[in-house]
Amino acid sequence: MIELRSNTKAIAVGLGKSGLAAVRYLHSLGLKTAASEYKKQITAEEQAVLAECGADLELGGHTPEFFADADLIVVSPGVPTNLPVLNAARSRSVPVVGELALAAGRIPVPVIAVTGSNGKTTVTSLIGHLLRSSGKQAFVGGNIGTPVLEYLLEPGETEAAVLELSSFQLDMAGDFRPDIALLLNLSPDHIDRHGSFENYAEAKRQIFVRQGSADIAILGADDPMVAAKPVTTAGTVLHFGTQPGCRAKVEGQQVRLEPGFGADGAVESYDLSATRLSSLVNAYNAAAAILAARAFGCSADGIQAGLADYQPPMHRMTPAGEINGVCFINDSKATNIGAVQAALAGFKKDVVLIAGGRNKGGDFTELIPAFRQHVRQVVLIGEAGPDLAVAAEAAGIGHQFADDMRDAVRKGFALAKPGETVLLAPACASFDMFDNYEHRGREFSRWVGELAGTNSQDTALNR
Ligand code: ADP
Repeated sequence: MIELRSNTKAIAVGLGKSGLAAVRYLHSLGLKTAASEYKKQITAEEQAVLAECGADLELGGHTPEFFADADLIVVSPGVPTNLPVLNAARSRSVPVVGELALAAGRIPVPVIAVTGSNGKTTVTSLIGHLLRSSGKQAFVGGNIGTPVLEYLLEPGETEAAVLELSSFQLDMAGDFRPDIALLLNLSPDHIDRHGSFENYAEAKRQIFVRQGSADIAILGADDPMVAAKPVTTAGTVLHFGTQPGCRAKVEGQQVRLEPGFGADGAVESYDLSATRLSSLVNAYNAAAAILAARAFGCSADGIQAGLADYQPPMHRMTPAGEINGVCFINDSKATNIGAVQAALAGFKKDVVLIAGGRNKGGDFTELIPAFRQHVRQVVLIGEAGPDLAVAAEAAGIGHQFADDMRDAVRKGFALAKPGETVLLAPACASFDMFDNYEHRGREFSRWVGELAGTNSQDTALNR
């Protein structure tokens, strides 16, 4: 546990939600606080929080002078960890830590922590929902929603903290130790920041290293990259997936829990077919979440009730409409190759895929087998369009370029036959054309809606 002494000086590097929460938390413990931000401006709300905490502020960069009297430095996720001011502080033996390292030893309830390349938000929110449907008060946050340090300011009556954790957060997690930790899958993402896939995977595997013998590690057994290397944990390892030996078995739209959780030692079956978790991707997510909730002590009945009324977050395999037998699905959050592979795995060769945007360092040739097996045509948008076209050609499928999302939706519809699906799963970040993935997903749905209107008018006129 990091010692936090009042009247020592802590500097948060990088503001945003996480940096602001660090300033507020450290201020509440009596430390002198400051913030250093590379942007030239911050919002009025951020200014107000800093003023309330009496925090000094430097904008437009990070200068050695500002850091000269720091006793502790807290780095926000996403800030490069090798900034010159941080290296200089380390050489003076000033602790340079992330928010999880600060939280370590200070979270008053058991922690369930979720990481992986894809499915974190879905599984984190689902575990929180299953806990609540089993009558347990849970805080849900971390990389999504409320930062963990903000939760520590007011933990209330919670009985568990369910945290989504990114590789950035785990990179600087210090002594952070989750009671139940999940690694869902591993596929290349954020290579631009971590330098290599191995570094990125290693950051994710850090989630287990501090666990004790009473803790539980939950791993995706079907993921080749997770299976490639044993994890370091002193806890009990449980697997989910289709492989032999899985404690939570995915069998079509059923999840079967092997004996060991119930008092009578019976196998438990959870039916997903009438839930919003019936896609192949979400059956894996459900298996992971059920295992975690059951290991935490939730009842089978509580879990079943939670599965029945769970609503997955938007822009993740979200149905966006149907026009003349063509389904439109919004998976705008599929910003890396692994998410696109997983989305396509649930289809026959009946997909018209809309993909492209800003490449995050992924190698699109990895998509060739999935293109060959599941995709009939590709509609390409944004900067990465030409590189994706090369992968489509290598897979022997046709492609068209679109000028914007409206054009992409129209071209996708023109190419699709009744019974087929137009799937937005871009394999890229959105920032070359949109504010964020939510904006991209909303635009997709909007133009599907417009096209549906036009088509119903055409149909009406033709009658
Ligand atoms: P994350 O928080 O890890 O980004 P999300 O739940 O927001 O995960 O989903 C991100 C993307 O990954 C979406 O496109 C979603 O359809 C896809 N996805 C969700 N679960 C999985 C999974 N288990 N394996 C692969 N892809 C997944």
